[in-house]
Amino acid sequence: MVFTDVSTEDAFSASDETNLVAETHTDEQEIQGAPEEGFMLEDPIGLSVTDSTLESDIGSQLMQEIRIKRGQGMMDAMLESGAERRDAYNAIETLSDHFNVRRIQAGQVINVSFTPSGVLSRIELQKDFDHMIVVEREKDDYVGKVEQLPSQIITRHASGIIDDSLFLAAQRQGLPQIVIVDLIRIFSYDVDFQREIRKGDQFEIFYERKLSEDGRRVQEGNILFAKLILSGKEISLYRHTPDGKDFADYFHEDGQSSKRALMKTPIEGARLSSYYGNRKHPVLGYNRMHKGIDFSAPTGTPIMAAGDGVIERASWYGSFGNYVRIRHNGTYKTIYAHMSKYGRGIKKGARVRQGQIIGYVGATGRVTGRHLHYEVYMNGTQVDPLRLKIPSGIKLENEQLEEFQLAMMSTNQLIAQTKSHILLTRDITEPENYVTVSP
Ligand SMILES: [Zn+2]
Repeated sequence: MVFTDVSTEDAFSASDETNLVAETHTDEQEIQGAPEEGFMLEDPIGLSVTDSTLESDIGSQLMQEIRIKRGQGMMDAMLESGAERRDAYNAIETLSDHFNVRRIQAGQVINVSFTPSGVLSRIELQKDFDHMIVVEREKDDYVGKVEQLPSQIITRHASGIIDDSLFLAAQRQGLPQIVIVDLIRIFSYDVDFQREIRKGDQFEIFYERKLSEDGRRVQEGNILFAKLILSGKEISLYRHTPDGKDFADYFHEDGQSSKRALMKTPIEGARLSSYYGNRKHPVLGYNRMHKGIDFSAPTGTPIMAAGDGVIERASWYGSFGNYVRIRHNGTYKTIYAHMSKYGRGIKKGARVRQGQIIGYVGATGRVTGRHLHYEVYMNGTQVDPLRLKIPSGIKLENEQLEEFQLAMMSTNQLIAQTKSHILLTRDITEPENYVTVSP
C-alpha cells in the first residue's frame, strides 16, 4: 500500500499524516479505485522529475518538495530551494493573494519546480484539505490560482451504549474527537449533557469523512444523522438544507429545527441604551468591560424569559440588585438584573417558557437609573447577545416539509446501505453517489 512507502528520512515530519492513516485503516481497504501511485514519492535527495506529459507547456521540470523549518520564512525557504531572489519575491507576492505567507507554519510542504535552466517555474502549496494554490510563471511574471483537489466522501455509521458519558462511549466506537464535539453541539439545544445522560442511554451516528484521492489525508465531514435514546426517549436529528437557505441545519423528524431561538430582546417597548463592550462605567467612573446590554424602559415594564428553561437563581445579587438567571440547555444561560420585582412563581428551580414574564424593570443594585441589564452566557462565557447567531427555530411546513421528508428517506437508505456493506463510489462532484463503509 502507498501508506507504508514513507521514506525513513521523512518519517518524522510525516508522522501526522501517518497517524491519520493508521486511524482510518479499516476504511481505506474498502475504498475502490484509490490510486496506488497517485502521488510522488520522495527520492533520497528530495529531487524528482515530474512526468513531462503533465507539464507539456513548459517541458520537463525539476520538482522539489520543500518543508518549512521551524522559524523559517517563505522567502528563506524559496532561496534555499535554489530560486533566484527576484523570482522568489515575485512568486511569493502572487502567492500571498491566496495565502497569508506570514502565517506559514513549520512543517508546511511546498512543491517548487524549476525549468531545466534553473528558473523558478511553479509553486504548489496546499491551502486546506481540498484546495491547492498553484503559482506559475507566465512570461516574466507569476500568476496564481486555487485548484480544487479531487477527494472522495465516505460515510461511516456507529452506535453504542452509554456507560459513563457520551464522549467516552463515542470514543470507544472509534469516533474522532472532532466528530464527538460536533455530535454534542448539534444536540445541545435539546439535551443538557451535564444532567440528562443516564447509564444505559444510547447513541447512533452517521457521518461523512473526506479522503484525498491518494487516500493519504483524511478530514471528518458532516454528521448526516444522529440519534440519542435518553431514558427511553428518542431524539433524532437529520442534517438538511431547506430550499432557499444557504446553510444546513438539523431537524427533528417532524420538521422542527433543533435550534431554538433565544429572543434577542427579552423586553418590549424598550430602547437599547448600552451595548456590549468597553465603556465608562456610569457609577464607578472608569472604563470597564460591559458584559451585557442595557435596555432603558419605564419601571414596571415586563421582562420575558428569552427562551425555555429552568430558573437557576432569582434573588438579590450584589450590584445586580434583583437578579434572575435562567439555564436554557447545556449551552445557554441568560441573566436579568436590576429588576424592581420578580414575576409570579419565579423562584429557583421553576421551569419557564419563552416569553413568560420573569420580572419587571427597576433600578435595584448599583445603577444610575432604571433599566434592564441583560447577559447571555454560552458554555459559561459571556457573549454579546446582539451578535449571537442563533438561527430562528424554524418549523418546516408544506413543500419544505415534503422536501425534508424525501431527504430524510434518502439518508435512511444510505444508513441501511452502509449497515449492509454495499459499496458505492462517490465523486465529490456527484453528491448522489457515496462510498459507504461500515464501522
Ligand atoms: Zn448593564
